[in-house]
Amino acid sequence: MSTLDRYYNYIDGAWKGADHWLVVSDPATDEPYAEIAEAGIEDADAAMAAARRCVDDGSLSAVRPAQRVTWLLAIAEEIKALTDAAALVLCRENGKSLEVARGEFEEAARYFEYYAGMADKIEGTSIPLGDDYVDFTSYEPMGVSVQIVPWNFPPSICARSLAPALAAGNAVVIKSPEISPLAMTFLMTACERAGLPKGAVNLLCGKGSVIGSHLVKHRDANQIVFTGSVPTGQRILRDAAERATPSVMELGGKSAAIVHADADIEQVIDSVKAGIFFNAGQVCSAMSRLLVHRSRYDEVVARAREMAEGLSIGPGVDNPELTPLVSRSQLEQVEAMCHRAIEAGATCVTGGERVSGSSGYFMQPTLFADVAVDSEIFQEEVFGPVLVIHPFDSEDEAVELANGTEFGLVAGVFDTRLDRALRTARRLRGGQVFINEWFAGGVETPFGGVGLSGFGREKGQEALYSYVQTRNIAVRVKGE
Ligand code: NAD
Repeated sequence: MSTLDRYYNYIDGAWKGADHWLVVSDPATDEPYAEIAEAGIEDADAAMAAARRCVDDGSLSAVRPAQRVTWLLAIAEEIKALTDAAALVLCRENGKSLEVARGEFEEAARYFEYYAGMADKIEGTSIPLGDDYVDFTSYEPMGVSVQIVPWNFPPSICARSLAPALAAGNAVVIKSPEISPLAMTFLMTACERAGLPKGAVNLLCGKGSVIGSHLVKHRDANQIVFTGSVPTGQRILRDAAERATPSVMELGGKSAAIVHADADIEQVIDSVKAGIFFNAGQVCSAMSRLLVHRSRYDEVVARAREMAEGLSIGPGVDNPELTPLVSRSQLEQVEAMCHRAIEAGATCVTGGERVSGSSGYFMQPTLFADVAVDSEIFQEEVFGPVLVIHPFDSEDEAVELANGTEFGLVAGVFDTRLDRALRTARRLRGGQVFINEWFAGGVETPFGGVGLSGFGREKGQEALYSYVQTRNIAVRVKGE
């Protein structure tokens, strides 16, 4: 038997092993770190049955909403208590820095607190139809919410969907990613300790093409919440179409920041550092294109290069500024994309290769210039520490370049002239636009995409309404 630490699936309030175990490696060293039970079809069916039972017996939806407030607040407290241990596991399995891993659990706790505040305020409306009728609408839970999570921020993305789903009274079956599934199990521990009814939350780790697909097509799935890549999202939408299962799609991006001539360049460089090097660029809303007014272009390229070349690189446990990518295959894909960009004629200002002499999955911080706007590196998501910098001459041109991909997740504008910044922001395609700070916003601000970046919104008050369906009851009250 293996000597690695073992992690389990959580089904109907119990921890469950398996015949087959998936080995999770440490991205900083390429050494096996731990293993997790691989869920099969029977496990998926058991989780769906438990969730269905919970929906049917009303153990989440029929209670007084104040009870759900109590559960959600208790989950938040339990997450906080588990953060030290959980963040270390996340850092070791995912490669991210310990500080970022801690931040992820803090954010996860915040989602539960935030939606606890809404769980007893999901109020319907009364519609006047004259004295002979009483008519009202209510917001009912969807039922069983199937939630499929990617590997880049597993606990916080899990909490982002789980907390509003529970607040609204849904039961949930979560499919964790095959890569980096371990730390999410701490959220189940928190739910268990908070006294959530059995079956209300279930967590399965297994192959997307096997149990992910099975869950999506399951007759008991009343909703699919998918966060991940465009091709998988498209596949899931086709599968969900079989039963017309409502879906939320949080997909990829190729987001651009526009730097106007009067921008504060210190602000820009700070935001570039966070925007593309945070979490090694493995962020759906990463700043992957920087469009700079020609009058400031050379200055910005030089400053960005200086910043990128000065970044500390190392294992997440040391809290460097740049951490490894999550897997060998991710490193190979990012590096190959950089090589193709150079072959297509782009100038590699810095980086463009993996960090040599390490067994970990480290990619150099990379900047590209002189890129053709129809080239792969300008149009497609890299999901690594790779930024394209491109000049523009007019506001119209900047907007056209920013909006000129199939994606539309977030965008940004940098300008000390707020009138122009706001005007530009209103013209940008995407669910969220940052002005003068990339990643401004938080748990409270709605987030989601247009175009290939998906549809539906997570975060903020608005997301709660992704987890309910409207019911209208029309009553004739007159006797005869
Ligand atoms: P991915 O699409 O490869 O996998 C995501 C999840 O889908 C995994 O759990 C996987 O097992 C599962 N899956 C795979 N095939 C499936 C199928 N046929 N049916 C059901 N489930 C299936 O994505 P990834 O590589 O884990 O994550 C990176 C991608 O996620 C990037 O494109 C990134 O932009 C995107 N992302 C988007 C957001 C957002 O909020 N918009 C947030 C984070 C990541």
